[in-house]
Amino acid sequence: MINFGSFYQLIAQDERLFHWLDTLPAQLSEWRSNALHGHFSSWERMLDGLPDITPTELDFKNGVIANRTPALSAGEQLGLNNILKSLMPWRKGPFSLYGVDIDTEWRSDWKWDRVLPHLSPLEGRLVLDVGCGSGYHMWRMLGEGAECVVGIDPTQLFLCQFEAVRKLLGNDQRAHLIPIGIEQMPELKAFDTVFSMGVLYHRRSPLDHLWQLKNQLVSGGELVLESLVVDGDEFQCLIPGERYAQMRNVYFIPSAKMLKVWLEKCGFKNVHIVDENTTSLDEQRKTDWMITDSLDAFLDANDKTKTVEGYPAPKRAILIATKP
Ligand code: SAH
Repeated sequence: MINFGSFYQLIAQDERLFHWLDTLPAQLSEWRSNALHGHFSSWERMLDGLPDITPTELDFKNGVIANRTPALSAGEQLGLNNILKSLMPWRKGPFSLYGVDIDTEWRSDWKWDRVLPHLSPLEGRLVLDVGCGSGYHMWRMLGEGAECVVGIDPTQLFLCQFEAVRKLLGNDQRAHLIPIGIEQMPELKAFDTVFSMGVLYHRRSPLDHLWQLKNQLVSGGELVLESLVVDGDEFQCLIPGERYAQMRNVYFIPSAKMLKVWLEKCGFKNVHIVDENTTSLDEQRKTDWMITDSLDAFLDANDKTKTVEGYPAPKRAILIATKP
């Protein structure tokens, strides 16, 4: 059963995170009683069935990769494959675990390759990853030397995927996923780097989101913000109708320049747009591990520069900013 005991122990001994204990246990016990409904219990049973494997090789620098010598037998690999498949859909990855390659919907490694060159070195930093999904990027952050990475994401399946991967990576205790939304966090002002990637356009109040991110950072800390954007100057923002690329929960898609203005309005300094990139059909696609529709089906069949709703096709920007 997933429990947060080791995380409580960790924050109880860390004066930067200690105050989180005022609110978190009550939130997570409420979360636990809600999680008893639905699929969560069956996913948790799957986790219990995972084999205990001690990795002899771990690589978070070039991917999220675990191997063991001697290698797993074909039968053991098949068993592992079946348990991990029961936690589908796998959206963010890929993961390479003892010969089982989880080919996720997204090539999250490509996003990481775009982000990494622009970061202040993560060596020794306390990091928060808001909307961390399955936690793929959290392992990559550890690969760059982060001291500890806390991810938050309210989606139950992603917690189960994270815990499955964590167990297979030798039960690494430097990364923790807490199943809450950013709005449920106290203002900790504790983290050296805060990531918010792929979350902003899902928030109804994007400026409040930026304030909340700022309130998690220490003075001098770094925000890494990644979002859908539209082309245009600082006056451009798309507020789609009911759906954008088939997603219902998309509110504001600003231009990268407008996003820079928003960050400055919220008091961030040294705001830089470091990357803009149109999402390719190779970066987000259907795979054996995510078998329902993906980007290709969300774009106009006759004009791949438009979504099925007629909006500009997904383009994403990365901005880096400092909290004064
Ligand atoms: N950061 C990852 C995943 C982005 S998908 C990446 O860039 O690849 C967006 C994630 O945000 C989803 O996993 C969703 O569950 C999560 N999310 C949605 N609302 C949230 C909130 N209020 N606080 C934190 N995470 C949230």
